[in-house]
Amino acid sequence: AFRAIACERHGISRSSISAGSLKVALTLQQAGYSAYIVGGAVRDLLLGLKPKDYDIVTDATPEEVRAIFRHSRIIGRRFRLVHVMSKGETVEVSTFRGKAADDLIQSDKECAYIDATGRLLHDNFFGSQEEDVRRRDFTINALFYNPATEEIIDYLSGFEDVMAKRLNIIGDPEQRYREDPVRMLRAVRLAAKLGIQIDDRTAAPIGDLAPLLLNVPAARLFDEMLKLLFSGHALTAVIDLRTRGLHHGLLPMLDVILEQPLGERFISLALKNTDERVRQGKPVSPGFLFAALLWHEVLAVWNIHLKAGEKNIPALLHRAMGDVLAAQRRRLAIPRRHDGVIYDIWSLQPRFLARAGRKPFRLLEHPHFPAAYDFMLLRCKSGEIDEELGQWWQTFKNTDNAAREAMLLQEA
Ligand code: ATP
Ligand code: MG
Repeated sequence: AFRAIACERHGISRSSISAGSLKVALTLQQAGYSAYIVGGAVRDLLLGLKPKDYDIVTDATPEEVRAIFRHSRIIGRRFRLVHVMSKGETVEVSTFRGKAADDLIQSDKECAYIDATGRLLHDNFFGSQEEDVRRRDFTINALFYNPATEEIIDYLSGFEDVMAKRLNIIGDPEQRYREDPVRMLRAVRLAAKLGIQIDDRTAAPIGDLAPLLLNVPAARLFDEMLKLLFSGHALTAVIDLRTRGLHHGLLPMLDVILEQPLGERFISLALKNTDERVRQGKPVSPGFLFAALLWHEVLAVWNIHLKAGEKNIPALLHRAMGDVLAAQRRRLAIPRRHDGVIYDIWSLQPRFLARAGRKPFRLLEHPHFPAAYDFMLLRCKSGEIDEELGQWWQTFKNTDNAAREAMLLQEA
């Protein structure tokens, strides 16, 4: 049983969706299949936000979709989807999924679909539109938009929930979080991003079930955390993660750091900075953000080594950095390609203290100077180090070489 909501009530006309997704949906329909825009895009349009991307669901199989669109390819192994290139966009087209599809995610067998089971599962792997609805996560993510009729198809009162700005999980909350603990993180991220409330029923089991995140593969956690941190609402989301006790497995150090005023101020500033950049459409670097999130942990470990009376300061810093990243990696797989930036940002920090001779010039030429410099300014702003150092470097960076020489003479 579903309700069809007319355009006059929901206000999304054909012209408000992207040209590429419109074309793909209508082409599928002309070929005799059903096709709808689904998920985040419908939700975002209802809330007056610009969708990040468009997903389409259809009753055509991936092979059938592939046969209709020349510029398309089948991707994914467990869940095969089709990427269709249309009007300069990549539109993701998936086939309605049935109950068996969920069992397959849980089974963790990469090749279950492709091998013998692939054929076996074929009939019940795909499902009806109604079955597809029930395996989605939240009611507001389970609305189907038909661009031909401009109607929204709603099985679970997702429309009312969007209007009431309420996040409701589909089905039994505990069971759905057990099936896939990442849904707890998605709840926090979506609530922060959309400015909506997590419904009591949906929020209730989260505290108790938080430890289930420890069983989620580190790489998947990283992907999900990246989405959260670059949502443009990271500060709100991280505070909420902490309130709900969800951060333990993710950023274990966050626990400790947020409890000391300096660490808390530093991380809040870093997240606020990132949020502003994301909202202005400026590029953001995962390396910079992870360097910031872990910095006070590095400082703490470094201090332990220093207190133990060891002398070689750069070597100790280096050891602290390695320890912190290794500990972090056991939980959240920060890909190694970010290591270079993270290590450079950290290890350049003590070099800002040397304001004599050729050293400041060499620091200026370092390829990661701009990131390290921004990082140092955050440290000043958070009160960890003296503002004067930041001001000095700001002047030094923005002036010419003659003036720089003069500044260094003054220091000497
Ligand atoms: P956004 O793209 O803005 O981050 P989204 O809701 O579109 O949000 P996607 O990760 O793109 O998120 O997922 C697309 C759709 O797939 C969701 O709207 C939801 O219906 C479904 N979905 C995604 N992740 C899950 C999950 N872990 N469990 C159940 N359904 C999910
Ligand atoms: Mg999406």
